[in-house]
Amino acid sequence: MKELFKREKITKNANMQFVGNTKAFTCTNCKGFSSHTWRWSLKHAEDDENINSIEDNINILIVAKCQACLKPSIWLKNLDEFTREEDNFEIMLYPRSQLEVETPNNDMPKSIKELYNEAGLVLNESPRSSAALSRLAIDQLTQELGANGASLNNRIGDLVKKGLPL
Ligand SMILES: [Zn+2]
Repeated sequence: MKELFKREKITKNANMQFVGNTKAFTCTNCKGFSSHTWRWSLKHAEDDENINSIEDNINILIVAKCQACLKPSIWLKNLDEFTREEDNFEIMLYPRSQLEVETPNNDMPKSIKELYNEAGLVLNESPRSSAALSRLAIDQLTQELGANGASLNNRIGDLVKKGLPL
């Protein structure tokens, strides 16, 4: 795993203090390739009052701030030294958007934009849900565009006949 947030920099005293700048990576807020300042915090488990030091914590929370748009992102990072390196993780918890999903076209109707964005949100957790939502978005879009046909398949065919590029 490529580490965005170097574990060598995570020391007891740095809890919620400015840690440093990351190497540049693509910001999920502005899609810019920029470095991020970051700080980290212990992730307290509500059911375990004994977890109060970094030695006890397997996971920490990281707050990163993009130096281009200044918006934050929140990450969960695994610190367990006994975990195999390939099983370590840094998961972005917020914002809940997918880098690989393009932002919707401005001309996309609002109701379809909502479906499109929802499909992007659940893509990692449930690809089949995402596919179902994407299909619904396309279904509604073909109707919005005035395509003729009782089924989605027929409406796509109609749009292709009318010049929709493939
Ligand atoms: Zn940004």
